[in-house]
Amino acid sequence: MTSGQGGTLFPESDLYGFTGLLSDAEQFHLTRLRRVLDVEARPLLSDYWDRAETPIQLRDSLARLDIVNPPDIAEHDGEPREIFVGFRNFELARTDASVAILYNGQVGMFRSLVREGGSDEQRRLWAPRIASFEMTGCFAITEPLHGSDVARGLDTSARLVDGSWILNGEKRWIGNADFSEYVVVLARDESDRQVKAFLVRTDAPGLTMDTITRKTSLRMVRNSNLYLHDVVVAEDYRLQRINSFADVSTIFSSLRPDAAWNAVGIQAGAYESALAYTRIREQFGRPIAGFQMIQEKLVRMIGNLTASLGFSVRLSQLRDQGIRRDVDAALAKTWICDRMRETVALAREVVGGNGIILDHNVARFFCDAESYYTFEGTREINTLIVGRSITGLSAFVN
Ligand SMILES: Cc1cc2nc3c(=O)[nH]c(=O)nc-3n(C[C@H](O)[C@H](O)[C@H](O)COP(=O)(O)OP(=O)(O)OC[C@H]3O[C@@H](n4cnc5c(N)ncnc54)[C@H](O)[C@@H]3O)c2cc1C
Repeated sequence: MTSGQGGTLFPESDLYGFTGLLSDAEQFHLTRLRRVLDVEARPLLSDYWDRAETPIQLRDSLARLDIVNPPDIAEHDGEPREIFVGFRNFELARTDASVAILYNGQVGMFRSLVREGGSDEQRRLWAPRIASFEMTGCFAITEPLHGSDVARGLDTSARLVDGSWILNGEKRWIGNADFSEYVVVLARDESDRQVKAFLVRTDAPGLTMDTITRKTSLRMVRNSNLYLHDVVVAEDYRLQRINSFADVSTIFSSLRPDAAWNAVGIQAGAYESALAYTRIREQFGRPIAGFQMIQEKLVRMIGNLTASLGFSVRLSQLRDQGIRRDVDAALAKTWICDRMRETVALAREVVGGNGIILDHNVARFFCDAESYYTFEGTREINTLIVGRSITGLSAFVN
């Protein structure tokens, strides 16, 4: 059932009323999320970003909202509709791109890996505790020497000795690792050379980490280098349904829609902040919003945003119908991130010099957009996935 009140949740950013596709109950949960973000997150953002610190207390506030899988909007398998998940990402990223990762690192990445990669027993034991944030986690795939080519290059090794696994290797860029209880580490089984996934405690003997500093994007997210030296993991903590990189890729293709929706939310946050600024900033005796060339930029932004929303909504509808193809998620992620880059740059432009300082929000979105452009598959890698699908020819280097 839809409310028939399209666009009321985001009156400035959702001109075509896509939120009208949400039920009243779904909109209710998003409104609760909005309240927490407005009251508890917004006042902290600029300072924490400046200091490169994570407002970790927000994780508890978001957990208490209990909007991972609310029973009143449960659909297939007790999960909410993809379109609700999409707008949840949109609302988070519209407030702040790092806060979106604080939530999604747990609810999207960690939870998806365990739900889709774990055995029935592992799911039964862990999935509810992950949904309630009682058990926290993140995931580690990227390595210092392998980013885009990690599928074939992954060097971290796993050796089975007397029923337990011994892990060795290094990981890079691992978000939320230093305040998570677990990290899902992808490692290559020395015996069959296949990639497997292990739930490793972050305080396990042999696992050390340091924080990547001097970042110019997502400064509120703590990204770590991980060093694994003879870390022992019981077979019970190996995700039983992940037995090759192809299994991991299948799970990743369900994470790309999250990244795409976040990239739409970033555009909304930048656009709304820029629009507000142009209404109050006066030059030549009138608000700059009244100048033709400023309006032209605002229109390009809202055009990008509306098209990106349409793309994401349709992607979610397809997935709600059970159509979950790699190519669809890759196309949405790469195309929307292109639009995002243009939108945040235009937002920065119309705010003038103030667009490069944190006080007007736009600078934060401008810098943070760069990370979304690169992770969950760079533009090139997602383009190659789409190119392979539409031509039938793989252009990945062999
Ligand atoms: C803020 C942030 C958070 C992250 N969080 C995590 C995390 O939590 N866990 C995790 O495991 N990883 C994480 N990552 C890592 C992320 O997934 C990688 O950065 C990404 O996969 C790209 O790898 P790379 O940075 O090593 O770039 P590279 O792979 O070195 O690529 C450099 C450039 O070369 C291009 N390129 C590579 N191959 C080709 C090709 N065949 N054809 C054309 N161009 C090509 C790329 O597109 C890119 O433009 C994070 C990264 C960032 C920036």
